[in-house]
Amino acid sequence: MITDSFSFKKYLFLLFSLIFILPSAQKKFTIVLDAGHGGSDHGANRYYSEVGTLREKDVTLAIVLKIGRMLEKNKDFKIIYTRKIDEFPSLTERTTLANRSKADLFVSIHCNASTKTSPYGTETFVQGPDQNRTNLEVAKAENDVIYLDEKDRETFASYDPKSPESLIALKIQQSKYLESSLLFGSFVEGNFEKKDKRLSRGVKQQNLHVLRLNAMPSVLIETGFISNYEEGMYLASEKGQNEVAESIYDAIVSYKKAIERNGGASNQPKEVVKPEEKPLKNDFRILLMSSPTKYNTGDPALKGLNYVLPIKDNDLYKYYYSVTNFASVRDNNLKTAKDAGFKNATAISFIPNQKLGVGFYTLELAVSDQKLSANSFMLNSLKDVIRVKEKGKFYYTYGKFSSLEEAVKMQKELEDKGIKNTTIQKISR
Ligand SMILES: [Zn+2]
Repeated sequence: MITDSFSFKKYLFLLFSLIFILPSAQKKFTIVLDAGHGGSDHGANRYYSEVGTLREKDVTLAIVLKIGRMLEKNKDFKIIYTRKIDEFPSLTERTTLANRSKADLFVSIHCNASTKTSPYGTETFVQGPDQNRTNLEVAKAENDVIYLDEKDRETFASYDPKSPESLIALKIQQSKYLESSLLFGSFVEGNFEKKDKRLSRGVKQQNLHVLRLNAMPSVLIETGFISNYEEGMYLASEKGQNEVAESIYDAIVSYKKAIERNGGASNQPKEVVKPEEKPLKNDFRILLMSSPTKYNTGDPALKGLNYVLPIKDNDLYKYYYSVTNFASVRDNNLKTAKDAGFKNATAISFIPNQKLGVGFYTLELAVSDQKLSANSFMLNSLKDVIRVKEKGKFYYTYGKFSSLEEAVKMQKELEDKGIKNTTIQKISR
């Protein structure tokens, strides 16, 4: 939760140097078309007597090739395919290809499936936080692909999604593209609804790995439910695939026009690098809420936000999200918190390594209605645990620290020993 400031600044320097480089002039509008799944990864599939086994990987490839044929007729576009045959490029290969080709837009085509046969309709996903449980299932299904091959496992091993650096860096990067992705998504879903008279389930934000690592506006289009008989037949048919492809093609053309009207990406004369942002003197954490209840990492009350640091102060748990000494990152973190549903979130300034004049920090190890057994793992592994009984409850605390940073450091050490979910507590007396 606390950031190693040296590597963080180095990282930010790199980041700020990289993300403000704009594409150069006369560049064709480059689109990466990604047919979801492929090879041994069939994606969603259902058997229908009319068409045999209907596989997501075949439908996505057919649609992608149709969109590509339409785009190739237009000289303003350059088209890059992540696959043109029945093979399985790893997710890393797909995103690396997109990033290296400095694409303007990444379009991943998929089909949906449900355990029930009734759900139908289209939906388009863009990167971002989203608490909707149904969407979460889609995210899980798509993210599972990541564990399919060896190469990805290696790549993602080096990408630590738990480090605040990668989270914050990716968030800044993606927020730049989010607006464009939402615009394109609205064109796609609008066409499905108005031209093709289909049910649009809308444009949604979700954290999907295939979108997360892209340095460009990116969408994942669920073109319909293979698990629904009518929609399955539609997706299997030449007519259905043509309609889907045309709607996405039209959306790409409209999107390019809209971007160019706004003086966007494609017509900047030369590379521009913004000056490096100067760090602020203080650290900033985003205060999400204060509550008498203790929530652990992953609790729904935290609305999907990671890197939340609870600090107990006068019987209230104050929940702080992220930490940074850069104004732009702070503002972005505040927006992320508000988008997640913490409407009253505010940025709070902390003086780094500030020693408390009065009182101290300690770690609350456990709160229990009963006395913990002397043989418990926690009491066995730590010396000098303090137990206090108050209003019928037993409070176990450990250590005295004069600064928040020291308390965080000890909290990490305890976590490594297997003592998790401790809370930093500020004692003001
Ligand atoms: Zn899929």
